[in-house]
Amino acid sequence: MIPTAGFCENLPKPIIVVNPGHGGHDLGARGADGTIEKNITLDLANRIIENLKPRYQTILTRTGDYFLNITERTSIANYNKASLFVSIHTSGNFNNQTSGITISYLDNTTDLSAFSQSPSLKNRGDGNINILWDEIHKNQITKSIEAGKCIQKRLSQNSQFPKNRLLSSPLRVLSGANMPAVMIEVGYLSNPIDEKNLRNTDYLSELAKEISNGIDDFLLKAENHINQ
Ligand SMILES: [Zn+2]
Repeated sequence: MIPTAGFCENLPKPIIVVNPGHGGHDLGARGADGTIEKNITLDLANRIIENLKPRYQTILTRTGDYFLNITERTSIANYNKASLFVSIHTSGNFNNQTSGITISYLDNTTDLSAFSQSPSLKNRGDGNINILWDEIHKNQITKSIEAGKCIQKRLSQNSQFPKNRLLSSPLRVLSGANMPAVMIEVGYLSNPIDEKNLRNTDYLSELAKEISNGIDDFLLKAENHINQ
């Protein structure tokens, strides 16, 4: 279901930030056939944004082949007051039989202070400010799990895709996001079948469609919750 009817027309459209992992000198994982993660993530993120554009304000953290550090990526989402931050990656494994899609949210037992992701605040000499910043995303984890479940449900309904799992991880890229946030690793470039699929533009479009549907489901649920 498309959630446009769920949103009040007088309100601004929700903002979705999609983050294509890696970029520039940071290639990410590499497949045996030469597929490079940074290219797949940008291609898929562009397809997701195209699907979402009619219903949301959409922002890509990077629009080309250049490097952004992790703090810059979440800062874009925080600055724009996004309703959801979705980070796109692929996986790699020494075992080339390992396959599947992984949807992750931040593990709330992670010691975020180790990430030291906000040096400008840390340098103010008030340690409390930095601790608060590091704790920001922990308030969003329940909603992040909900977003992950919505996306997982849509991916599970499409038989083209390998098995998927939803799990918590100590993900630095999500830790500074002041909104629900998930990472989706859409397949293993180390697996020949996953790599072949991820080189196929029809397959990428299907992935983008189901991820976008899951985002719709989550935003519609969130909107209904606010209206109750
Ligand atoms: Zn990656």
